[in-house]
Amino acid sequence: MPTPADTESLVAYLSTRDVPCPGCAYSLRGLKSDHCPECHQQIVLGIALAEPPIVQFALAVIGLAACGAAAGLLFLGVLAICVKKQGLPPEDAALLLLWVPAVITGLDAAAVTWMLRPARRRWFYRRTRGGCWTVMLGCWAVSLAVLAGWLMAMFHWA
Ligand SMILES: [Zn+2]
Repeated sequence: MPTPADTESLVAYLSTRDVPCPGCAYSLRGLKSDHCPECHQQIVLGIALAEPPIVQFALAVIGLAACGAAAGLLFLGVLAICVKKQGLPPEDAALLLLWVPAVITGLDAAAVTWMLRPARRRWFYRRTRGGCWTVMLGCWAVSLAVLAGWLMAMFHWA
């Protein structure tokens, strides 16, 4: 709950700045209270990172999700073929084409969920800029290594 001193700071800050309301984009310059005159939402003065590494974090999560997404698509494709042909592939083919992709998708979904936890994001944001890119590349490397290992197993089997 903002105090009268918070509102005073907000009014002082907006007395000389053109800042759009985060809710409706109405210019808050010269605001006299802590409510937007256009959308009537309460406004608070806050602190934010100047350059949060959101792009690197998003790319890291996408990289981590890549192998699960690929395996999940293959699982659904093979499952659709099985339903159409009304039968499972031979035992060792079923292992590589159905059960391994299903396990990869499940484990990857758990890894992505873990990565999206607020504590993980804070851990990521504490890295240096280079550290963020390294973690991002590491996520892609793990994902691609899982996919490559699985493809090699399929070619070995085929
Ligand atoms: Zn507004």
